[in-house]
Amino acid sequence: MGEMEENYDVVVLGSGAAGLTAALAAAVQGARVAVFEKAELIGGTTALSGAGIWIPGNKIAARAGIEDSQEQGLKYLLSLSNGMILPELAEALVDGGPQLIDFLEAHTEIRLQLVPGYPDYHPEHPGGLAGGGRTLEPALVSFSGLEDWTARIAGDIQRIMLVEMPLGGAPEWSHLRFWPNAPPPTSKDSAGRWSAACSRHASPAASRWPPACAACG
Ligand SMILES: Cc1cc2nc3c(=O)[nH]c(=O)nc-3n(C[C@H](O)[C@H](O)[C@H](O)COP(=O)(O)OP(=O)(O)OC[C@H]3O[C@@H](n4cnc5c(N)ncnc54)[C@H](O)[C@@H]3O)c2cc1C
Repeated sequence: MGEMEENYDVVVLGSGAAGLTAALAAAVQGARVAVFEKAELIGGTTALSGAGIWIPGNKIAARAGIEDSQEQGLKYLLSLSNGMILPELAEALVDGGPQLIDFLEAHTEIRLQLVPGYPDYHPEHPGGLAGGGRTLEPALVSFSGLEDWTARIAGDIQRIMLVEMPLGGAPEWSHLRFWPNAPPPTSKDSAGRWSAACSRHASPAASRWPPACAACG
């Protein structure tokens, strides 16, 4: 039987965040799942995005001491909608966010983290948060563990400096994905100098910005 004639319990069209999350949800419940992607590379718009995920009342913000609730998040959404939103969809989004965090932690290596201080876009609205807490992002994911899949993922794998990013600007690399040809995460020493461990040269060297191995240049 040809591959296209096989039977699946669930067929997902598209390999962006929505498709892959749906595929994973079906697979962990025992379904035989196939994902079909019409583009040459997988990831869709998701692979090009900033990867910020808006989840009001999440446990990661709570751990950071931020006061928030799903009720406040829902109030905020409704305040923005001019009465045109379907309340049940807004409720599903707000209710499902914390469940998504738990689901990803249980079934993947993805760990979401706070984007510190990132405010709601309209914090002046009822339920809005000015000091951040609802926008999360994935922690670094090493492409080296993806082996053959690395070349099949959409997106620009050129090195970029965080200072070039419109929304970032924090002097840490923690908001960058770990592309295979990007430098490893960096750190500051007690003298405040940046350093980067190099995978090709035995002794980590550097102490300048942008951090780089002195031997590699
Ligand atoms: C530069 C940029 C930054 C962004 N930053 C953020 C952000 O920080 N936070 C945020 O929430 N949103 C952000 N967005 C928006 C966000 O990326 C999208 O809303 C989200 O990725 C959509 O996910 P998706 O899974 O629905 O679609 P996609 O990720 O686009 O995936 C759809 C996939 O389906 C495939 N497909 C379509 N039709 C078929 C078919 N018939 N058969 C098979 N495959 C098919 C497509 O080729 C594609 O791969 C950003 C967008 C851009 C462009």
